[in-house]
Amino acid sequence: MSKKPKTSHTPRKRFGQNFLQDDGVIARIADAVHPLPGEHLVEIGPGQGALTKALISPDLRLDVIELDRDLVSGLLAAFSIFPHFKLHSADALDFDFAALAADGVPLRVVGNLPYNISTPLIFRLLEFAPHIQDMHFMLQREVVNRLAAQPGTKHWGRLGIMAQYHCEVEHLFDVPPEAFFPPPRVQSAIVRLTPHAGSPWPACDTRALRQVVQSAFAQRRKTLRNNLKGILDDAALESLGLDPGARAETLSLEDFIALANHLSRGTD
Ligand code: SAM
Repeated sequence: MSKKPKTSHTPRKRFGQNFLQDDGVIARIADAVHPLPGEHLVEIGPGQGALTKALISPDLRLDVIELDRDLVSGLLAAFSIFPHFKLHSADALDFDFAALAADGVPLRVVGNLPYNISTPLIFRLLEFAPHIQDMHFMLQREVVNRLAAQPGTKHWGRLGIMAQYHCEVEHLFDVPPEAFFPPPRVQSAIVRLTPHAGSPWPACDTRALRQVVQSAFAQRRKTLRNNLKGILDDAALESLGLDPGARAETLSLEDFIALANHLSRGTD
């Protein structure tokens, strides 16, 4: 049984509102993030401030981005006394994270994300990876499985490839539905994404990587030859040592980088 809600705000499904109610889980997330004085944190979807409360301190810069306007006054009432707290009543999906990091201090991004938009939000944040120190997110367990997936498994796909190209991915711990109100229908987990300082991968044009990965997985059960028709032919695949009859899920991240480099060389 989930605990009773701690406030009168009625959770809204369309905003993906599942509020954290378990103080033990909140403390574990705050421990994993471990914010230090002078750092710049950004929380996506603070909701009623359950996590915000555990993270905030007077010496910390904390920007929060909340889409539900009905939550704004409560957040301001609770946190405006902190000198470096700033609330953005905005949509994180089109938020300019680079502007927050314009002074050169990298961002530490945190959030119990609205599950209905977590995948597009992560793809968007990956575009800001050079401005980000790390990210800690509560996500559906299944999304964490995809982020941390290995080649040759059913979870290996666009999300894991793009995330692992930009970041180290660590599955930290699982969180049961009872930790939230209302409880989500799925298991959840906390993941840490740390953008690579010196990339372990060969450089490549990320637009070409996105394009080739998206095409290669367009229809999971089809072959590379079929999915990449029109962008890379059999000769191109074979020149990279790849079997045109193979499926995308058998390729490694290095294989996709090689494909992206071949593609961008061909379209220069
Ligand atoms: N952090 C709170 C907690 O742990 O209890 C709330 C988490 S709840 C799962 C997700 C929060 O994200 C909600 O407060 C919701 O209103 C907000 N939200 C939903 N879509 C958003 C968006 N596009 N941009 C910013 N916030 C959003």
